[in-house]
Amino acid sequence: MKLITYLEDGREKVGALTADEMSVRPLPFPDMTAAIEAGRDALVPAGEPVGLEKVALLAPIPRPRQDVICLGMNYLDHAKEAAQYDKEAFAREKPVAVYFSKRVTEAVAPEGYIDSHPGLVEKLDYEAELAVIIGKTAKNVPAEKAGEYIFGYTVLNDVSARDQQTGHKQWYFGKGLDGFTPMGPCILTADEVAFPPALDIACRVNGEERQRARTDGLITSVADTIAELSSGMTLLPGTVIATGTPAGVGMGLDPPRFLKPGDVVECEIERIGLLRNTVK
Ligand code: MG
Repeated sequence: MKLITYLEDGREKVGALTADEMSVRPLPFPDMTAAIEAGRDALVPAGEPVGLEKVALLAPIPRPRQDVICLGMNYLDHAKEAAQYDKEAFAREKPVAVYFSKRVTEAVAPEGYIDSHPGLVEKLDYEAELAVIIGKTAKNVPAEKAGEYIFGYTVLNDVSARDQQTGHKQWYFGKGLDGFTPMGPCILTADEVAFPPALDIACRVNGEERQRARTDGLITSVADTIAELSSGMTLLPGTVIATGTPAGVGMGLDPPRFLKPGDVVECEIERIGLLRNTVK
């Protein structure tokens, strides 16, 4: 099942795509977090299908109730390119997960705009990532049971201001600016994908492919991430975990190539779909 959040006649709704993905059938929940809390068995569409041409897609979870939990440098080739760009800022000396938090006041919709923050940001970059959505309260979950706690998956662009990210001791500001979290186009429920998800992930800028990998190439796996985090931190339904980006980000190119207004960034994951945004 593919779930979306959308605007119809100015009202925000959640719904399930029809099999042909041309229409949406509404679900009886006020928002996606409520639908996630209700559980997959409760996701029974209760209305007539509406053609997607009549609605406007929003990010599937437009306003996550907590910051997005992110993994940094979680693909080997990306860890190498980051260290080449700035050895001090991206040192990864220990074989432990790099966790950080990304503030998301409002996630950017599919086809929405990435804010370039002129005057503040000079080195704007993209990061295509698989995002995991937690489905039920997770506390002390062993890795072998982690899959049972996943509601679904979406595509997330972990937009980053490299100058702000490396200019401060912490990454929070450079990763959490307004308009830095495009998400979507849908949540693919976890029952549709074997665990752990092994899906093609790619990113293009103005049609030029920059990133391509498989989502099972993570240094810290999805199962180990949920096990480790939940060993000391309760993960609530609707929690979004961005699992890290593959090699090929702008700072990793020689010379680095950063985003500018007008650029079109496409992040795509097999089965889930295409997330396209323009920099403004
Ligand atoms: Mg990232």
